[in-house]
Amino acid sequence: MARYVMALDQGTTSSRAILFDEAGGIAALEQAEFTQHFPQPGWVEHDASEIWETQLAAARGVLQKVGASASDLSSIGITNQRETTVVWDRATGEPIHYAIVWQSRQTMAICEELRSRGLEDEVKRRTGLVIDSYFSGTKIRFILDAVPGAQERAARGELCFGTIDSWLIFKLTGGRVHATEPSNASRTMIYDIRAGAWDDLLLGELNVPREMLPELRDSSGIFGETDAEWLGAPVPIAGAAGDQQASLFGQGCFTPGSAKNTYGTGCFLLMNTGDKVPKSETGLLSTVAWGRDGQLEYALEGSIFVAGAAIQWLRDGIGLVHQAGESEALARSVEDTGGVYFVPAFVGLGAPYWDERARGTLVGLTRGTTREHITRAALEAIAYQSRDVVDCFQADANLALDFLRVDGGACANQFLMQFQADILGVPVHRPPMLEVTALGAAALAGLATGFWSDENELRAATTVGATLFEPRMSADQRDALYADWQRAVERSRDWVKG
Ligand code: ADP
Repeated sequence: MARYVMALDQGTTSSRAILFDEAGGIAALEQAEFTQHFPQPGWVEHDASEIWETQLAAARGVLQKVGASASDLSSIGITNQRETTVVWDRATGEPIHYAIVWQSRQTMAICEELRSRGLEDEVKRRTGLVIDSYFSGTKIRFILDAVPGAQERAARGELCFGTIDSWLIFKLTGGRVHATEPSNASRTMIYDIRAGAWDDLLLGELNVPREMLPELRDSSGIFGETDAEWLGAPVPIAGAAGDQQASLFGQGCFTPGSAKNTYGTGCFLLMNTGDKVPKSETGLLSTVAWGRDGQLEYALEGSIFVAGAAIQWLRDGIGLVHQAGESEALARSVEDTGGVYFVPAFVGLGAPYWDERARGTLVGLTRGTTREHITRAALEAIAYQSRDVVDCFQADANLALDFLRVDGGACANQFLMQFQADILGVPVHRPPMLEVTALGAAALAGLATGFWSDENELRAATTVGATLFEPRMSADQRDALYADWQRAVERSRDWVKG
């Protein structure tokens, strides 16, 4: 009898493997970090081979931890950093270029070219997205331009494009399966979210050959079996979804109007809109939540590029903290930021501003400013950016949020959670375990193989023992702080020239 579902959670900074038991509890977790490459300012790349190696090591390691083997697994579910683009050789399985990461701005010029051809409305109508270097389409173009001969090889079907889910499925199945699913496909800017198919017009505009695209499958269903070489025996890969949609699933946001925010490298707020393709007037994205039984469900999304990564920068970039967790005590040691605001627009601003030319900005510095103030301002910025997006949700969907479900690594920070509740004026609901993204991927797989029979079976895992952070700040104070945040954002905008 299978005892576990294994989730492979391939994130921006680490590859994780988690074993979930029947109650949705974590039996074991293994994690491996990998290298971030910053070849030029605003560019971010990963070595896809290192992603694969760390992911495989995590999968093997987590089995070893509990003395389990492949036969103890019902199936594998994959969730992944979205949009990050890999192009590899179909025959050798070797990438032809470093993967271009979702955060990377290296395709700004290609985006401008698309805008100058007047494609903005068409892109929005077909894909639900805005033209931005965030999405995969222009990243594929970049790689095909950067590697000599790649365009021709792609047209001959010798190269494969994939987001990280496809890449891992290809490697896990020993190159037998080249497939993806709708939640990841909906982030490529070459996928029609209504038709649920690759979009010929956009493929043509970007000159991306169809021959290199993965096959489209359901998010919950068998993609193939892992090669026996990897885990000792074949295991079915039975589910996949982009990280944010997986966490929406893991949080149990199955009904229209339910929403969550994930605090990781960036912050991603998604609200389920059921079988309706949402429309935003405020700068949110329309995206596919998942495809099940051949039916697509949708979500409204606000994507914030830099959230926890601002804390990482305090640690690795300027050495203001030794570890991310220390930021909490530093922030609490001062009463406020002393008027300092920190807009972490390191790679421009995502929702709702979509300003590729914005850059990180610290305002309100005085001789009295300390590292405690700056650290606090970095944490508060995460909450302010989330408030920007929640306001858009409320305007677009014309509804008031009762509470916000949260997850992701930075949710461990209680100061941040309290400040989030305060600045929203809405309670924040934090589940007892924060690996909700992985749980969502496991659920998609476990439901496909009958390990679980109903998605509501897993609800207890994210609700029993949850912490509720109630707003405590006065409305006047909230409004005054938020108004100054908006002024600070203005200072960061349209900074990069050229
Ligand atoms: P991802 O999946 O995007 O790699 P995680 O969900 O693992 O991200 O969260 C890691 C991020 O959260 C990092 O950017 C880190 O700086 C931030 N983080 C982790 N712990 C804390 C903390 N206690 N306070 C603030 N930020 C934190």
